[in-house]
Amino acid sequence: MLREQQRFAILSHVRPDGDALGSQLALALSLKELGKTVRVWNEDGMLEKYSFVPGANLLSKPPSVPEDVDVALALDTAIQNRLGNTLPAIRAAKIWINIDHHPSNPGYGDIVYIDPTSPATGQIIFELIKSQNLPLTHQIAENLYVAISTDTGSFQYPNTTAHTFEIAAELVRAGVDVGRVSQELYENFPRRRSELLRELLATMRFEAGGRVASFSLSLNLARQLGVLPEDTEGLIDHLRAIRGVIVAVFFEELPDGKVRVSMRSKSEDVDVRTICQKFGGGGHILAAGARVRGTLPEVRAKILEAICHVIGCDP
Ligand code: 5GP
Ligand code: MN
Repeated sequence: MLREQQRFAILSHVRPDGDALGSQLALALSLKELGKTVRVWNEDGMLEKYSFVPGANLLSKPPSVPEDVDVALALDTAIQNRLGNTLPAIRAAKIWINIDHHPSNPGYGDIVYIDPTSPATGQIIFELIKSQNLPLTHQIAENLYVAISTDTGSFQYPNTTAHTFEIAAELVRAGVDVGRVSQELYENFPRRRSELLRELLATMRFEAGGRVASFSLSLNLARQLGVLPEDTEGLIDHLRAIRGVIVAVFFEELPDGKVRVSMRSKSEDVDVRTICQKFGGGGHILAAGARVRGTLPEVRAKILEAICHVIGCDP
């Protein structure tokens, strides 16, 4: 289908992360090498944090008027409505392709390629490019490296396999400068993000004898600090990093009367995806999320109760 068709729209989820953006741009650059017309859309457009990646200027918010495309590709997006406002822009698409690594993905679309064993959608895109002999330039390699590095927590999460390192090695051979890319990814945050972390740590709480750690961000504080959505990415790792913590939770008040809940587990026995699914969310066993209606204290109480139900404790 990628070779046969001509006009593609490559989409990904709202509040995109490195895997979403890197996967989108890698596939877009590869299809462009084949002479295809490619649109790369995301509800949030390109994030400042990732604007160093090659081809970043290809990524934009979707147009308000639908555009004629042959194929719409959804990458890294577990449920279709997480494509947000890109959906109306591709209403005319004839074919839907769904490429993802979320086990909760129900398999929407005409052609579905879901590999829940893959630590990143970027790894699936790499395998697709290799198996189909699609172009793999240095620019494409860098985007794939960003996707895989960010979604594996810098090659640390348990779904990081020998195969993942083999792919990383091949990307480095293709020209990725590991030191430079890692510095862009992990040592180039705005000061605002650390100021936010300081405030979050001030709200840190432990439950269940230290097995559950959480912190919260109110809308007021977010506005006061001028927090951007991408600032919060990865901050939950500071909770996960604490000895004895099994479940880490980040509560973020949203302007629409909901609370965004981010959850991480350090044990395969504690499946946070199932917990989040009870609240209409999803994700992976060790990393999941949901958007839950209610105030911060209300949502906090409900979520902690659900966690305690699983790990056996009094909330
Ligand atoms: P994060 O906590 O980094 O936002 O998300 C962790 C994982 O949970 C990601 O794989 C993401 O796709 C999934 N996730 C986060 N929020 C939601 C949500 O509201 N709904 C669903 N279905 N999945 C989510
Ligand atoms: Mn991903």
